[in-house]
Amino acid sequence: MKLYNIKDHNEQVSFAQAIKQGLGRQQGLFFPLDLPAFASSEIDALLDLDLVTRSARILSAYIGDELPLDVIHKRVKAAFEFPAPVARVSGDISVLELFHGPTLAFKDFGGRFMAQMLTEVAKGQPVTILTATSGDTGAAVAHAFYGLDNVRVVILYPRGKISPLQEKLFCTLGGNIHTVAVEGDFDACQSLVKQAFDDEELKHELGLNSANSINISRLLAQICYYFEAVAQLSQEQRNQLVVSVPSGNFGDLTAGLLAKSLGLPIKRFIAATNANDTVPRFLADGKWLPNATVATLSNAMDVSQPNNWPRVEELFRRKNWRLDTLAYGCVNDKTTRDTMRELAGLGYISEPHAAIAYRLLRDQLQPGEFGLFLGTAHPAKFKETVDEVLGQSLPLPKELALRAGLPLLSSRLPAEFAPLRELLLALPK
Ligand SMILES: *Cc1c(COP(=O)(O)O)cnc(C)c1O
Repeated sequence: MKLYNIKDHNEQVSFAQAIKQGLGRQQGLFFPLDLPAFASSEIDALLDLDLVTRSARILSAYIGDELPLDVIHKRVKAAFEFPAPVARVSGDISVLELFHGPTLAFKDFGGRFMAQMLTEVAKGQPVTILTATSGDTGAAVAHAFYGLDNVRVVILYPRGKISPLQEKLFCTLGGNIHTVAVEGDFDACQSLVKQAFDDEELKHELGLNSANSINISRLLAQICYYFEAVAQLSQEQRNQLVVSVPSGNFGDLTAGLLAKSLGLPIKRFIAATNANDTVPRFLADGKWLPNATVATLSNAMDVSQPNNWPRVEELFRRKNWRLDTLAYGCVNDKTTRDTMRELAGLGYISEPHAAIAYRLLRDQLQPGEFGLFLGTAHPAKFKETVDEVLGQSLPLPKELALRAGLPLLSSRLPAEFAPLRELLLALPK
């Protein structure tokens, strides 16, 4: 698979390089040079397969020139160890539940596949993943790399500034996962990570990699669950399908559009945001005018400069699709609360991110169409909000309940580079 840098088409890399490098020159995103597509008979055959077999074939359409199908199959099997069920919400709307993985959010799919691919292309060379987190990403990365050979993971987080349950989720693993509580805020953690990547000696010595969210391997993994959703629908539903995607950095929507570009029948997408509505405003009037980010109930979508948006535009350009065929909308916190109650009334307990996607779907769905929205996180991950809005107490799922009783294994460091450098060099090999 060849990829080019969206900002400089002369910079071309292989899939293996793109995984290791993350970003191209001038912080440009990598994008596939060839856009594979299946015939509709091939799509039908794919939809008859199980999740792992089908996903390996889909991924092979992109990366089959670099990795044989059996290797891809083995890696996908290790990454996608949990289901992605479609659940009925109302007569013409269902939800794709992407939160049955170890950290209860869709990021487990991309994170775990990236971990598998990084270890595959590193070919036994030791890799050290160094990353800063304000909560959720750290958990997904930690669980994704936990127990893999030749990989060490170091996660920095601001001490006392993430929720106690979030901390339990990734700071109780041990093994090859090293967590560091920094005496500072998230920006201080990010700045330490940057200093480490600027330190050539350290970078070389440890084989540093950031495993961050713009890595192309994540997007490829996420394509697979759109196929898994359609596979669970009836023929009638498949023919009139509208998909609503709760969006922050727009990775999930990019993956959905790539699934459509492969030939998956999806009539229309809805780009759903919270009050951080840079994209809906852009789609309405063609002006890109990010505002300051505001805090909302759906905090994983509190992004005003979505870093995957250039990939969305690039795909529309390459496919000659018109940007005005992309539906959109934004939902404020009050409507989000009302919608969570409406969903509970339908017998479906949800959380703020998915509720936003549902709201726009139910508002925009036309007669005869079938709607699907993405359930991006388990409601228990947003227990405080869900309990408050619905006036009830959600039980903790077993993944969280189990971890809640374990001791924290984090080291503590001041927000200074020298002690971090020392810690990194002293890690067990
Ligand atoms: C990350 C996240 C999103 C946003 O996904 P993007 O790919 O960044 O658009 C939505 N919901 C939840 C729960 C998330 O964790």
